[in-house]
Amino acid sequence: MVSGIRQLVELESPSDNKAALDHLGQHLAARFAKLGGEINFHRQEHAGDHLQVDFAGPGKPILILGHMDTVWDVGTLASMPFRIAEGGAFGPGSFDMKAGIVQAIYAIRALQEQHGRLPRAITVFLVSDEEIGSRSSRPTTEALAQKSAAVLVIEPSQGLKGALKTSRKGVGAYRVRVVGQEAHSGLDSNQGASAVLELARQLLVIEKFADRKRGVTINPGVVRGGTRTNVVAGEALAEVDARVSNLHDIPYLDKKFRSLRPFNERCKVEVSGGIGRPPMERSKEGAALFMLARRLAEELGWELEEASVGGGSDGNFTAALGIPTLDGLGAVGEGAHSRHESVVIAEMPRRAALLARLIESIPG
Ligand SMILES: [Zn+2]
Repeated sequence: MVSGIRQLVELESPSDNKAALDHLGQHLAARFAKLGGEINFHRQEHAGDHLQVDFAGPGKPILILGHMDTVWDVGTLASMPFRIAEGGAFGPGSFDMKAGIVQAIYAIRALQEQHGRLPRAITVFLVSDEEIGSRSSRPTTEALAQKSAAVLVIEPSQGLKGALKTSRKGVGAYRVRVVGQEAHSGLDSNQGASAVLELARQLLVIEKFADRKRGVTINPGVVRGGTRTNVVAGEALAEVDARVSNLHDIPYLDKKFRSLRPFNERCKVEVSGGIGRPPMERSKEGAALFMLARRLAEELGWELEEASVGGGSDGNFTAALGIPTLDGLGAVGEGAHSRHESVVIAEMPRRAALLARLIESIPG
């Protein structure tokens, strides 16, 4: 399994590098083909091709959902090479989520070895654009989920105890653009209308859209505006990260953003964007799936926990469609999107075993 992670980590695959992603896709396709999977690439012009692998078997398929892309540019390996230390496997994309892909390969292989053939139809779908919002893969993810009995997402688990994720926040971004009136700051400053000042006032309003109790968070992570100190700013822009826990908070938040009006009537305020990934609410179906996973983990000798997290995944799409979805079935580790990203090697076999047992045991 460790050499499997190493191979995948050393095929660097940032979301915006089609050539690199397609190279990794070919490598993975060959591995899945060896297991007898039927390979189908969903070709993309700009994004990397998405990889679908179908394994024949009885019943409605189980969809194993993951992504091949990482947040790390090609060349990161030079300063952050694959390495093993203190029981961990380190390297760009190791935890999020190449180790999860390796576990899925081993789970499928174990089922084949044990039963002689698969006890259940399986579809594996690995997208190339999850880290940048899954725009090009979303329709296929949703179509495949509709045909499946359940969705098992091999994203990283939560915390060092490896909790599964039964609810996730919905995530999106709003762009708030202010157009003011440019003027010389000394000569005719009354002619001007500062877009920067207007945006600053708007941000104080936007900050109040957050509501911790109902799980709405707001972060104006990027602000730009103005050209020079001696010019009244003609334009300013804020990009605001927004997250919600409940589906019904999407229209609530949207209405708030769309109702922003300028304080200075000589400025214009334009709002675009929205919540692109709906929240994964803790559903009855998802909870039942977790209870099954917990029982299976108990048989394997460990106590599995569940968690609710702020980050989104492609599981948000499938859960919003009402398809039973269980997330966080990938590796145990820490430091996703950070330079100390790593996987706990000793946890990998039993995570793969749990995945295999789930595939065997999910009804339908
Ligand atoms: Zn991920």
